[in-house]
Amino acid sequence: MSHEDTLEQNLASGRKEYRLSLQKELASLCYAIEELFQSSPFMDDEILADVWNDIYQRLRKMAEPADTFGFTSVGEEARHLASIVRRSLEGGGWPDTQAQATMLTKLYSLQAALTVAQQWTQAPLSVDQCDGPLPAAKIWLIEEDALLGRQISEQLANFGYEVRSFTSCTQACTAASSEIPDIIIVDAMLEFGHLAPCRALTCPRLFISDQDTFDARIKAAQHNAKGYFLKPLNIPQLVNRLEQLLQERHPPPARILVVDDGQQLADYYRRVLETSGMEVRVLENPRRIMEELSTFRPELLLMDVNMPNYKGPDLASVVRQYDEWSSLPIVFLSAETDLVKQVDALSHGADDFLTKPISAAQLVASVRVRIARSRTLSTLLNKDSLTGLLKHASIKSAAIDEINRAYRHHYPVTVAMVDLDHFKRVNDTYGHAVGDVVIASVATLLRQRLRKIDMIGRYGGEEFLVVLPHCTAENGWKRLEDIREYFSRLRFNHAGQEFACTLSAGMVCSIDVAEDARDRLLVLADEALYRAKRGGRNQVCQ
Ligand code: GH3
Ligand code: MG
Ligand code: MG
Repeated sequence: MSHEDTLEQNLASGRKEYRLSLQKELASLCYAIEELFQSSPFMDDEILADVWNDIYQRLRKMAEPADTFGFTSVGEEARHLASIVRRSLEGGGWPDTQAQATMLTKLYSLQAALTVAQQWTQAPLSVDQCDGPLPAAKIWLIEEDALLGRQISEQLANFGYEVRSFTSCTQACTAASSEIPDIIIVDAMLEFGHLAPCRALTCPRLFISDQDTFDARIKAAQHNAKGYFLKPLNIPQLVNRLEQLLQERHPPPARILVVDDGQQLADYYRRVLETSGMEVRVLENPRRIMEELSTFRPELLLMDVNMPNYKGPDLASVVRQYDEWSSLPIVFLSAETDLVKQVDALSHGADDFLTKPISAAQLVASVRVRIARSRTLSTLLNKDSLTGLLKHASIKSAAIDEINRAYRHHYPVTVAMVDLDHFKRVNDTYGHAVGDVVIASVATLLRQRLRKIDMIGRYGGEEFLVVLPHCTAENGWKRLEDIREYFSRLRFNHAGQEFACTLSAGMVCSIDVAEDARDRLLVLADEALYRAKRGGRNQVCQ
C-alpha cells in the first residue's frame, strides 16, 4: 500500500472518529440548552452565567477542528452560535428564550445534517457485526463520608459504570479540568452553597440525602436536580434513574409517517420534521398503510383529512382495527375549519387536529410533545419498574412479531432465555432486597452488552427473554457467553460480605428451525435453558 493510501486511510478514520465525537457533543449541547429552557426561571443568576460561559467555550472548541476535518458548515455555525452567546454575556446577560430556540433549531439541523452525511459516506454495516458494548458511562459521586462513598461506588461499579468518588465539590471541580462525567451524584448534606465549584458542569445531577424535607427538595430542584434519593440508598432504583438519564441524552430519533396526497405539502412536512432530527416517511398510496406501519414502525401518524380516494378518518378507523396500533398517536392536518367535521375526525380515533396553514415551529412542537407523552406512557405501560425492561406480555408479543418478520424477510433471529442460578439461595442468605439488586444488575448488563436493536424483557421473576434480530446462532452464542462470563466475575456486597452469582441461558436461532415450527422458538429456547441447568448451570446451551 502506498504512503498516500495509508495517509488517506488515516484521514478517513480520523474524520470518522471526529464525526462521532461531534455527534456526541452536539447531542450534549442540545441537552444542556433544552435543560436551560425548562429550568432557567428557577436558577440563580450566577449559576446561569457560569453555564452559559461553559456553553460558549464548548461552541468555540467545536468550531476549530470542524474546519480541519472538512465539516465547514458545522464550524461556521458553531462560530456563529458562539458569537450570539458572547454578545449576550458581554451585555451582562445571556441569550433569551427566543435566541435559545434559534440556537436549538440550528443545533438540531446540524445533527440531522451529520446523520445524513454519515449515511452517504459509510458503507452499510452488516447488522451482525455493528455496535459492540458501549463505553462505560462515567458517574461521579461527591459524598463527604468517605466510607459511605466507597460503598456506594463499589455497588455502582457492579452495574458496569466507571465511578469516581470525591469527598468535596472542590476536589471534583479540579478533576473536571481533564474529564467530564456523564452524571454527578451529590450528597445534599454538603451545604448547597458548596456546590458552587461544580456549577459549570452541565451534566445531569442527582442528589442523595438523609433529609426528606420540603425545603431541601426545593433547594435541590433549584440546583437542577434530576432526582432526589433518600439514604440508605435503594441502588436498583438509583440505577434505573441513571439508565433513564443516560438514554435521554441520546434519545432515538422520533419516527413519523406522513399520509398526504399533496406531494408538495407532504415534502414540506418531511423537510421541517427531518430538520429537527426526526425520521420521516411519506406514504403516497394509502392502501399500503398497514404494510408501511409494520415496516417503518412510526411513533406518530400525521394525516391529511381530505384525500381524493380515502378520507383520513376512515383510514384512522382501519388503523385502530388492529390491536397493535390501538395507541399510535394520530394527528390530522387539514385546512378544514368546520368544527363538526373535526369532531367527527376525532371520534374516528384521531388524537388531535392541527389546522393548516401551520408554522414549522408549531408543527415541530406539537409532534415533539405528542411523541414525548406517548413514550412516557408506553414506558409506564410496558416496562417493568425494577429493571426498566419490557414486561412479560410486551416482550412476548415483541418476540413473536420479530420472529414472524424474520421468517417473512428471510433473515436470522436468535431467541434466548436467561435465568439466574440458585437464586433462591441468594434471597434466603442475603434477603429479598439484595436479590433485587442482583436482578437489576443482570438487566443493566444485558442492556449494556447487547445492541440497540435487540429486545430484552423480564419474562419472570429472575428470568429474562432476549431477542436478537439479524443474528446467527454463532454470534448469538458469543454474545450470551460474553454476558455469562462477565456476570460470573461480578462481586456483590452485602454488609461487608462479598458474594458472586451465575446465570444460565438457552438459545435457538431461526435458521435451525423450519418455518412451520416457528411458533415453537420460545419453547425450544426454554428447553435449551433446561439443558444448561441440568448440565451444571453457569453455561449457554443451544
Ligand atoms: P435454578 O438455578 O434452577 O434456576 O434455581 P433457582 O433457585 O433460581 O430457582 P428458580 O429459578 O425456580 O427460582 C426463582 C426464585 O427467584 C424464586 C423467587 O423467590 C425468586 N424471585 C422471583 N422474583 C423475584 C424478585 O422480584 N425479587 C427477588 N429478590 N427474588 C425473586
Ligand atoms: Mg433461577
Ligand atoms: Mg426462574
